[in-house]
Amino acid sequence: MTDRVPSPDFTYAGGTLCAEALPLSGIAAEVGTPFYCYSLAGLARNYRALEAALAGLPATICYALKANSNQAVIAAFAGLGAGADVVSGGELRRALAAGVPAGRIVFSGVGKTQEEIALALRSGIHQLNAESEAELDLISAVAAGAGVTARVSLRINPDVDARTHDKISTGRKQDKFGIAIDRTLPAYARAAELPNLAPSGLAMHIGSQLLSLAPYRAAFGRLAEQVRALRAAGHDVISLDLGGGVGITYRDEAPPGFEDYAAVVRETVGGLGCDLMFEPGRSMVGNAGVLVARVLYLKDGGLRPVAVVDAAMNDLARPAMYGAYHAIVPVTQPQNSPDCVETDVVGPICESGDTFAVARSLPPLAPGDLVAFGSAGAYGSVMSSAYNSRPPAPEVLVSGERFAVVRARQTVDDLIRQEAVPDWLEPPEGA
Ligand SMILES: *Cc1c(COP(=O)(O)O)cnc(C)c1O
Repeated sequence: MTDRVPSPDFTYAGGTLCAEALPLSGIAAEVGTPFYCYSLAGLARNYRALEAALAGLPATICYALKANSNQAVIAAFAGLGAGADVVSGGELRRALAAGVPAGRIVFSGVGKTQEEIALALRSGIHQLNAESEAELDLISAVAAGAGVTARVSLRINPDVDARTHDKISTGRKQDKFGIAIDRTLPAYARAAELPNLAPSGLAMHIGSQLLSLAPYRAAFGRLAEQVRALRAAGHDVISLDLGGGVGITYRDEAPPGFEDYAAVVRETVGGLGCDLMFEPGRSMVGNAGVLVARVLYLKDGGLRPVAVVDAAMNDLARPAMYGAYHAIVPVTQPQNSPDCVETDVVGPICESGDTFAVARSLPPLAPGDLVAFGSAGAYGSVMSSAYNSRPPAPEVLVSGERFAVVRARQTVDDLIRQEAVPDWLEPPEGA
């Protein structure tokens, strides 16, 4: 079976792979390779689908910036009415700069600094999701210093296995996230007693790329039990933040639909009378983006043909980092269904981990061919680095027949300019 891009926004037309109505080859000719390309229609479709599934619930969708924090992407979601879930002061500044109203921003994360908390309070964001009792103390102190009352939710670790990749499971007892569920009541009581804190509810996020609803049902059920226990102890609980994590198709996975996800939400926490917040990232952007690269060389490897492309693990880290699968397709549609060849697809970086695919069934590739990596909109560009002094790839946003470069290609001069050689270093001999 050969790959296909699992997205209605990247399809072949006139023999060439297009982003909406634009041939990717044309964009490549203008901006060079490699580059990321996002579809505005895809972003909007994903957001609208979740919004429709949640209709009738008192729900706020806070797009999780960490999946893709390009300013244009954030602005697109802000334009659709989304809030933002941020996990650093940097993301908070990005959300504000892209026009997300402060009152629709929540700040999650296990290690917020005093400066980040101060920035959040100064900006007047909706709430901070606290992940430890020590953090409650710090938020209270910073809020007192600023003369404000901080609205906080307690992120609870429900001890539920999301049954996803180990590195993106976040809701098991051994994971670093949240307040242990059996500490909910004492932690909430502490938040209620501390000056300048207004505890409003509970939060959770059990992991990413979930392909089953069962972990959600278990975790939301535990959350509902905690709400009842808190109320029985006399506390107000007015909001629940249910996190993100719904998976997407990379290859042939069948992730839960938003309608079924919403049904689990209704069943478990829908009757509590709480405002609900959602923090989707991957499911909003993952399949609205591709990474386009060019084949540099084709060589006979020890076992099979190897295609060396001009994108690498510094551009798209997921295969090297998680062993992740991304569909790979030729941009020029193969004619007359040629025999596929098992091919390794690798980048130029000097380590074997820089391998995108092993023994992938692909139409025969030739140097100069363009290829697209599917499902690259989430955790793609945001994780890129300049390893091997390869400047991170540019990003392009397409809408219909228009495109714009929404992040310029960085240059090696940019990289060098940020560094300095101390004047007390001995100059090279003969210089
Ligand atoms: C990463 C993260 C999300 C988004 O997860 P996705 O799997 O991309 O939907 C939401 N909330 C928190 C707290 C996160 O850390």
